[in-house]
Amino acid sequence: MSADMIKSLARAEAIGLSIYNSGLSDQAVRQRFNVTHIARLASNENPLGASPDVVRAINLSAPESAVYPDPASLELREALARQCGMTADLVVMGNGSEDLLKLLCLAFVNPGDRVVTLLPSFGLHHIYPRMMGAEIAMVPVDPRMEYDLPGWERALNLPSKLVIFSNPSNPVGCMLDNDGFERLIAAAPADCLLVVDEAYYEYCADLADYPDSLTLLRNQPRPWIVLRTFSKAYGLAGLRIGYGLASDPAIVEILDRVRTPFNINRGAQAAALAALHDRRHVLRSVAHVRAQRGALRQALIAMGLTVAPSQANFLFFRVPGEGAAVAEKLLAYGVIVKPWLETGYRDWLRVSIGTETDQQIFLQALHEVLK
Ligand SMILES: *Cc1c(COP(=O)(O)O)cnc(C)c1O
Repeated sequence: MSADMIKSLARAEAIGLSIYNSGLSDQAVRQRFNVTHIARLASNENPLGASPDVVRAINLSAPESAVYPDPASLELREALARQCGMTADLVVMGNGSEDLLKLLCLAFVNPGDRVVTLLPSFGLHHIYPRMMGAEIAMVPVDPRMEYDLPGWERALNLPSKLVIFSNPSNPVGCMLDNDGFERLIAAAPADCLLVVDEAYYEYCADLADYPDSLTLLRNQPRPWIVLRTFSKAYGLAGLRIGYGLASDPAIVEILDRVRTPFNINRGAQAAALAALHDRRHVLRSVAHVRAQRGALRQALIAMGLTVAPSQANFLFFRVPGEGAAVAEKLLAYGVIVKPWLETGYRDWLRVSIGTETDQQIFLQALHEVLK
């Protein structure tokens, strides 16, 4: 059987899809280059790891590994609902918030529907809509690498099914403030579904100008869902667990129909509950990022590089020439960062905030590579 025949059986949308750039594993880099230490700075993981309570909770759940998990993740949804001042019927769990992005597209996007998102973009904000045959409109950031509100207002003038953006944004790190957020959502068509991806929520939650999306969205007519995750500030990226907070139980019910019934495994449910209760670990993780981000930013600026504003656990910066070539050279030093591959941003790299040691290794390697 030829590959051509297999392709003729597949959906055109699936064949045409670009592959999500999920980065290199430590192992792959170790094998190619003879390096002992890897500075993993490409995936925005928590350099402090997970709370010790999480390890205990997973161990406690391990003896029950033969038993299916709760398909409704009810205890966890109730805990999240309490924390967010909502009811559990408005909370939906995903195998990572990536899962929820896919489920939203499966449930709501028809071929030809228009989906509006940000450029540079989080890949899955357009890959999953494309999978359903959507038309994608992308709104570039402005020259300051901030949200271009007039651009969004123009883009939202046309009928649209989904409006998806991350706040703060990945990969740029820029943040819509209260006014900007209100302007953007007010410009969206009244019959679209607003998807606000707050993967980096915990890094901004206490900032005075970070929009309290749940309150602001509640008072407007459009259906909406706010996505958050345990992958970043909680340090559970390896367990795959994210959640959505929806405007209406009907959204949760539709997503329940299209998801796999046991999409959150037993260990992940136990881990997320434990992580949620260790507030101190999250605060420590956020404080670490804030302290290290400022220092890293100054060091990059001192090297003559342009650095985008960031309220998240990474920095987006511009290098002379191709970002991918710079990232490739950094691998030889055991440093993994993420080169941006979208047209117009191929000279930008994203580096995660890591341990102090890894940031020093990264800066020294970058200095050598750019010499
Ligand atoms: C990291 C990230 C996610 C993915 O989170 P998971 O819960 O690990 O799937 C979603 N959206 C954005 C914008 C992210 O940066």
